[in-house]
Amino acid sequence: MLIVTQNRDFYVHSTLKKRLPCQLACPHSNDATMLPMSIAFTDTRGLIKAPVSFTEAILAGLAPGGGLFVPTRLPHFDAQELSELRVLPYHARAEWLYRAFGVDLESEALASLCADAYGEQWDDPRIAPIRSLANGTSVLELWHGPTSAFKDLALQLMPRTFSAAIKKQRAEGGLNHDVLILVATSGDTGSAALSGFAERPHTNIIVFYPAGGVSEIQRRQMASQAGNNLAVFGVEGNFDDCQNAVKAAFNDAELCERLTTEANLQFSSANSINWGRLMPQIVYYLSATAELCATGAITPERPLDIAVPTGNFGNILAAWYAKHMGAPIGQLICASNENKVLADFLESGVYDIRDRLFTTTPTPSMDILISSNLERLLYELAGDGACAAWMDELRHEKRFAVDASTLAIIKNEFVGGWLSNDGTLAAIRRLYEEQRYLCDPHSALAVEVGQRLRSADRPLLVAATAHWAKFAPDVTRALTGTAYGAELPADYAACSEFDLMHKVQELAPGSGRIPTHLANLANRPERFNAVIPAGANAVRDAVLSFIQQ
Ligand SMILES: *Cc1c(COP(=O)(O)O)cnc(C)c1O
Repeated sequence: MLIVTQNRDFYVHSTLKKRLPCQLACPHSNDATMLPMSIAFTDTRGLIKAPVSFTEAILAGLAPGGGLFVPTRLPHFDAQELSELRVLPYHARAEWLYRAFGVDLESEALASLCADAYGEQWDDPRIAPIRSLANGTSVLELWHGPTSAFKDLALQLMPRTFSAAIKKQRAEGGLNHDVLILVATSGDTGSAALSGFAERPHTNIIVFYPAGGVSEIQRRQMASQAGNNLAVFGVEGNFDDCQNAVKAAFNDAELCERLTTEANLQFSSANSINWGRLMPQIVYYLSATAELCATGAITPERPLDIAVPTGNFGNILAAWYAKHMGAPIGQLICASNENKVLADFLESGVYDIRDRLFTTTPTPSMDILISSNLERLLYELAGDGACAAWMDELRHEKRFAVDASTLAIIKNEFVGGWLSNDGTLAAIRRLYEEQRYLCDPHSALAVEVGQRLRSADRPLLVAATAHWAKFAPDVTRALTGTAYGAELPADYAACSEFDLMHKVQELAPGSGRIPTHLANLANRPERFNAVIPAGANAVRDAVLSFIQQ
């Protein structure tokens, strides 16, 4: 039986709230006290007047006033229901969760969107397989998708639901335009977003990346992306320059006007604060815990600790939502690199970015100062008033401190730890030498921090977020005992990143095959090699050239 709970106050005041059965369990009921089947969305800062539907929330992305969309309640599954997930193929598990939320898309459409999102483009039919290591540790491999990073799990499904949402709103007369998505990326997001939005009806996408600021593999992945609704530009500058120019484009009234009149388009973004990206991530935690329950590895009495390499806090927040929907999850271990603002926050309750110097690391996808999705956790634990005040402080003072009772709840569920750059490379090497399992730097960091902080009596699941071949140079450093940032040893110094993938295979027998699309990347034609100057004008001209082509 599916149970829903009043989410807003549930975690703090769980005993005060009455659980009501949802209509999904008894579709013929006419009982007026039943909650409606569809879960509506409100915002983290208490600024929107009426809750919105799933499709409205994902099309808007950010809530009016700057908050993030959050569900007004959560579905809740008991152990029996979760164990039933195990017999479904992965795409049906995703569909199952979307139905439990009562998303406002036709069920037939939803089924085919999920089947399409988790289909042939994955190199493992299980989509997110679990690999067992020694000492009660398992790894959830989230890199079997078309760009070999975990963002594919969200960015294969999200653009499909996004496209269907536009179609729905157009049919209902709520929207007259198609959308043009602008993405500023420092790495994995660009290629995963391009792959997800390529040829999706009613959508177009342009990606801007810092020329010289992404790896050769990442650049080629983007530059060779097929599709008629997309373009890619390098920007002479760093990631902030890209992001600022994209923001300027969104706020350029004249550009928006020309977009509408000349191409019938409207700007949109697809960043990781969109609820449409978080939902698919909850699926793999429900799915993984269902499988581990079925084998008897975990039970409601003996839950699982989960370690996640964390940047924007999206992936680990999805695990928290899965836990509060009933998955038997214990501690959530938040693994950081040398840019450890999150580890410090989870320890002290103080989020402070005033004097943080940014360092480069072998885990670039975690090099983040403001973890946007943390706002959702603060809302869930402390409510919209407190959340809005803290976000305001962060904007003005670059710092906020949560109250003692919120910190106590956070510490009850989360623990944070971090690893140095050379510690990360050592972790890759140790894991390979001890267990013949080769990991990318992000995943190895999470294994190491997870093993250090896990509860002794519980199994540990680690989210593995990228395939090692995407980070071949640092994996080569790890396997040859070379320090982070140092020149590669003579035998490797002249190799391209593509050559290094094969060198790694020689260095680490049993490390597995290189995903086909990465192995073929060096031979794929580059469609996009334009590099534009930094600044709003060049980005505006790039947008105009795209719509005029
Ligand atoms: C994006 C990314 C992360 C960080 O995930 P968040 O959801 O931002 O916390 C970790 N590892 C890899 C490889 C990534 O691409």
